[in-house]
Amino acid sequence: MADYTNLSKRFLAARFILAVLVSISLFLDGRLKQAQAQAVYPEYVVVYGDTLSWIAQRFDTTLEQLIAVNNIQPDDVLRPGDRLKIPSFEGMQGILTTEYVALGSSLTSLSRRSQTDPEILVRANRLTSPSELFIGREIIMTKRENGSHMTTMPAIKPGQSFLEASVLSGKNTWLLSGINRLSSPLMGMPSDTYYMPSNSENGSNLALPGIKSIILDNLPLVQGGTFLIKVEADQPVEITADLASIQPTFVDVGGVQMAYGGINALTEPGVYPLTMTVTYPDGSEYRFDQLVMISSGNYPTDKPLEVDPQSIGTEAEKAENAKIKAVLAPITPIQQWDGLWYSPAQDADCIISQFGSRRTYNDDPGVYYHTGLDLGYCKGTDVYAPAGGTVVGVFPNQVVRGNCIIIDHGLGVYTTYMHLNEILVHEGDVVQSGQLIGIIGTTGRSTGPHLHFQVDIHGTPVNPLTWLRRAFP
Ligand SMILES: [Zn+2]
Repeated sequence: MADYTNLSKRFLAARFILAVLVSISLFLDGRLKQAQAQAVYPEYVVVYGDTLSWIAQRFDTTLEQLIAVNNIQPDDVLRPGDRLKIPSFEGMQGILTTEYVALGSSLTSLSRRSQTDPEILVRANRLTSPSELFIGREIIMTKRENGSHMTTMPAIKPGQSFLEASVLSGKNTWLLSGINRLSSPLMGMPSDTYYMPSNSENGSNLALPGIKSIILDNLPLVQGGTFLIKVEADQPVEITADLASIQPTFVDVGGVQMAYGGINALTEPGVYPLTMTVTYPDGSEYRFDQLVMISSGNYPTDKPLEVDPQSIGTEAEKAENAKIKAVLAPITPIQQWDGLWYSPAQDADCIISQFGSRRTYNDDPGVYYHTGLDLGYCKGTDVYAPAGGTVVGVFPNQVVRGNCIIIDHGLGVYTTYMHLNEILVHEGDVVQSGQLIGIIGTTGRSTGPHLHFQVDIHGTPVNPLTWLRRAFP
């Protein structure tokens, strides 16, 4: 009998377990149906000039789906500021935005920062491999609306746990492990980058011990472009960088290490390696590699120039170039400019030749490019210092440059003014932004009155318009 009792008990237990399983699966099924009913979509904010079909095309969906998900009626009018749910990016949350892949970004870090599954980011950005996330590539991301941002958590130091690091950051450990898509705080590793909610973004995507932020600025990088690497450290670290074989020098400016670099205008567009090393006071070293994209500057090609063959490649020209090169070489450690630069001419729009245009001379097979910005004299002939600096070169009557001035602005950044009619400063003068320094002329190798305004970084000419359009740092 005892056996029967046991059997019936087992039977009852089995029925009970089955009932529980059925109810769990019914519950899960219900949850699933609910989730499907409340599918999350990111929103796109309509801007002036958008059309529904263009938005559908841009975000890989169809007009029909866009209309259905957003319940658009036949007589609805699309207005700037309207929000549209984007059905193709189901699972992304927030407002759709585009950004350039930043230094230190990976699929994991982008997923943590945007709180989006990596697979959805892969789909939205048509990535076939995570290695396609080159610095400077444009990607579709989402941002949050309520003013809350994601900022990098201070790096987990070797020997420290995620728990300790999160306690030090003053946030809830489980909340942080959830945000960072860790199944448990125990899964947090040193030398990985984690994010936490914050009122402001530090812009950094690479968490290294002792480093508050590390940023490659002025993306996307282009031929003839300026770049800036900014490193904010809380201990005296030594930093080196190599970007497409350019090794910018880091200078400490008020506790932030700044390295300005210029990309040669003739650099082939493509993907180049960036390597950075951080050496700590105890001698330990951290090395970081990522690929960076250099895009075309879309510079036009000028008609071949016919010049007196005797005037090209002369000894006088070579001597002049060598002399100027030496003046542009030193990296003075004080930043003498402040914010946005002004145009050195009275009419900033009076541009007669852009930086970067390709030039050939006579039958010379060599390709050259315009190393500066040519400004005419539409409103007047005065030439002003565009930013603070020190006059380090006053060269009258040069074969190529005519009457020429060179100003050192610090950190390897120099400006040159060529073909002047008059020079109104002396070597050693400290000039302020907007100070009169010369008069436009047509001295040296020049075909008519104009100012050739050139910006060099470590001796590489860069597009001057960059400095007139955005403030560094
Ligand atoms: Zn020029």
